[in-house]
Amino acid sequence: MTKVTVAEEWLNSCSGCEIAILNIGDVLVDLLVNNIEFVHIPVIMDKKYYGQTGEEKELSIPEAVVGIVSGSVRNEEHKEVLLEMRKKCQILIALGTCATNGGIPALINMYSNEELNKFVYCDSPTTDCAEPPTENIPPLLDKCYALDEFVDVDIYLPGCPPHPDWITAAVLALLEGKTEFKMPERSVCDTCPLIRERKKGFDDIKRILETPEFDPDKPLDEMRCLLEQGFICLGPVTRAGCGGKGKPPRCLSTRMPCRGCYGPIRKDAKPMMDYMGALASVGFDPMKMPDRRGYLARFSGAHGVLKKIG
Ligand code: SF4
Ligand code: SF4
Ligand code: SF4
Repeated sequence: MTKVTVAEEWLNSCSGCEIAILNIGDVLVDLLVNNIEFVHIPVIMDKKYYGQTGEEKELSIPEAVVGIVSGSVRNEEHKEVLLEMRKKCQILIALGTCATNGGIPALINMYSNEELNKFVYCDSPTTDCAEPPTENIPPLLDKCYALDEFVDVDIYLPGCPPHPDWITAAVLALLEGKTEFKMPERSVCDTCPLIRERKKGFDDIKRILETPEFDPDKPLDEMRCLLEQGFICLGPVTRAGCGGKGKPPRCLSTRMPCRGCYGPIRKDAKPMMDYMGALASVGFDPMKMPDRRGYLARFSGAHGVLKKIG
C-alpha cells in the first residue's frame, strides 16, 4: 500500500504540539505501520535544511501530501521555513493555537522589538546589561504572526496543546480522501457541565488560585459556574474541544477556570468585546478588570488583535 507522506515543522514552538502528536498513542503506531510516512519531522528526525552536509544553496524540505506546522512566525527563518512548507505540501495543517492565532508568544505584540531587547538584555533584574546579539541569529520580524498571515492554511487545529483526538480525526479524514476538516464551532461553555444559576452579583474578581465553592463529594454538574462565582473563566469566548471528542473541558474537569487556550470560537469572533459582555451579564463592570487585553487575548494576539501599547 502506498503511504501518505507527511512533513512536520515547528516554528516559534515549545514542542507541546509535537508531544500531542506522540500522545495519539497506539493509533499513531497503526497509522505509521499502515498509512502514513513522515518524510520530514525535525523534532525527532535528523534533516538539515541545506542538505545533510550543508552543500545546498537554498533551504529545502521534501515534498509531502500533508504538511503540519506548529508554532507562530516570529523571525525570518520561521517565515522562510513556512513558505517552503506551503510550497512543498498539498494540504497544510496549522497545529496548535500558536499556529492558528499566535498563542502565548503573540503577547509580545503589545511591545516593540526595541522594548523587548531592552528588557531581556538590559533591564531584566538578573541580567548584566549588554547589547543584543546581531550575528548568526535570524532577524526578528516586527511582531509575532499566525501562519495564515503569510500562507493559505487548509485545516486549523487549535489548542495549547491540541487534543490528540482532533489530530487523529483530521488525519483520518484526509486518509479517507477528504480535503477539509473542521473542529466544531462551539464554546467551552457549551460543553461545560457546571450549573449556571443566571444570578448576578460579585464585586471583585477572585484570583485563580483561590478555591471556588464546591462540594468535593458531589459531581461537576452540581457545582456552580466559576464565572458566576467571580473567577475569570474564558469559557464563553473560547472554542470547545480541549477534553477531546465528546468529553468535558479539561480545566473545568479539575474545577479550574478556562484560560482560553483554544482561542476564539470562530475566525471572525471578537472575544474581547464578547467577554466584556459576559462579565456585564453577571453584574461585573468589565472596566474594573486588570490587564484586560493581555488576559482576554492571551492566546490570540496575532491577526492585529494585540497592538503596541501607547
Ligand atoms: S500551541 Fe501551546 S503547545 Fe503548541 S507550540 Fe504553542 S505553546 Fe506550545
Ligand atoms: S463560564 Fe466557565 S464555569 Fe461557567 S459555564 Fe462557562 S466554562 Fe463553565
Ligand atoms: S478549559 Fe480552556 S484553558 Fe483549559 S484546556 Fe480547555 S480551552 Fe484550554
